[in-house]
Amino acid sequence: MKAEIIAVGTEILTGQIVNTNAQFLSEKFAELGIDVYFQTTVGDNEMRLLSILQIARSRSDLVVLCGGLGPTEDDLTKQTLAKFLNRDLVFDTKANQRLDDFFASRPQYARTPNNERQAQIIAGSYPLQNTTGLAVGGMLKADGVTYVVLPGPPSELKPMVLKSLVPLLLQSNQRLYSRVLRFFGIGESQLVTILSDLITGQTDPTIAPYAKTGEVTLRLSTKAQTQVQADAKLDQLEEQILTVQTLEKNRLRDLLYGYGDDNSLPKVVFQLLKKKSQTLTAAESLTAGLFQANLADFPGSSQVFNGGYVTYSIKEKARMLQIPLEDLQEHGVVSSFTAEKMAEQARILTESDLAVSLTGVAGPDELENQPAGTVFIGLATRKNVKSIKVVIGGRSRSDVRKIAVLHAFNLIRQTLLSEENLV
Ligand code: ATP
Repeated sequence: MKAEIIAVGTEILTGQIVNTNAQFLSEKFAELGIDVYFQTTVGDNEMRLLSILQIARSRSDLVVLCGGLGPTEDDLTKQTLAKFLNRDLVFDTKANQRLDDFFASRPQYARTPNNERQAQIIAGSYPLQNTTGLAVGGMLKADGVTYVVLPGPPSELKPMVLKSLVPLLLQSNQRLYSRVLRFFGIGESQLVTILSDLITGQTDPTIAPYAKTGEVTLRLSTKAQTQVQADAKLDQLEEQILTVQTLEKNRLRDLLYGYGDDNSLPKVVFQLLKKKSQTLTAAESLTAGLFQANLADFPGSSQVFNGGYVTYSIKEKARMLQIPLEDLQEHGVVSSFTAEKMAEQARILTESDLAVSLTGVAGPDELENQPAGTVFIGLATRKNVKSIKVVIGGRSRSDVRKIAVLHAFNLIRQTLLSEENLV
């Protein structure tokens, strides 16, 4: 936020008084993290004040005027700003009451029409009450610029700044900071159910769940003045979330695969492969190259991926991957045996560090008495071969294939993260 301080008063220009208000305000704004780019002094003259307002509006977000709120003829700050913004002056009830009380307790003082002006604010302003004087201050926003009007006497300006202006600026100087947590292996409704205590009654930070095909994200948002302050609040909430147990009794920490809007499970795996200098291949049946297409989406993928197989029919599984056909026929293509053999052979034949395989039923019809959505994913490293079975229920053929690919990426991620699996 770029701020500018304008002191109004001919006595400052003639050297009768020193502009200590500017120094005080600059110091307070620095504490709030508001940058003050200009300090100007202008005499009690409407034309010159209008000209400096014109300049200030074009270069600053926050324009703070001090001085010239009093009852005498040369006090013209509020009137000039009202004219500049094309707004009326209106009475502030509290300030008016203060004026009434003041004169009621001092019958010897004559109340002049000029005194009334001290209780006026520019229409649309938030009043800044004067606890040590009679002239009310104000803050208002017009065309994206915030204007603040403060009295000249430091004995009035300082308490008004400390008690009213600083809290207001603290509020308006806050930005929204967000952090996106990305989970794989849990559905949106289950996640919302287990986080219901945290989600109910949230005000700041807030938690917003969002589901995409096969994965779910949580956007944590908070208002703060700095990234550091925001991080402190978001770290605390994230820790609360990650220690909540899922229905399967594992912690959400195990299902968190990454952060940020533009991250994805394939991207996280690609970066891990690069970091650990591992090469990967794939042998795909039901996904017919979708996994490999995902991996090749990233620039530099040739560093980790030399090539792989699409072995759709049982014949090609046997021929391309050099697996005895009778073994495949005996165990069936939708089986852990086939998944593991496919991965093992793909890894050996391409001399890769890792190989993943996908074989299953994309649907809508069942295959080998297995329902649509049944997928076996094999994973071979230089040390061992394993497989998992996932059942992706109630999804379209296209979703089954997409989600199966994400499961494959997740299996690789978990394998890469547990060092003992790698050579
Ligand atoms: P009043 O109600 O007293 O007229 P005002 O808001 O109109 O207040 P001014 O008339 O501009 O303020 O100034 C009143 C007195 O406040 C000045 O004589 C001076 O003592 C002090 N003052 C004004 N501006 C400043 C400044 N920028 N720095 C320090 N003191 C100031």
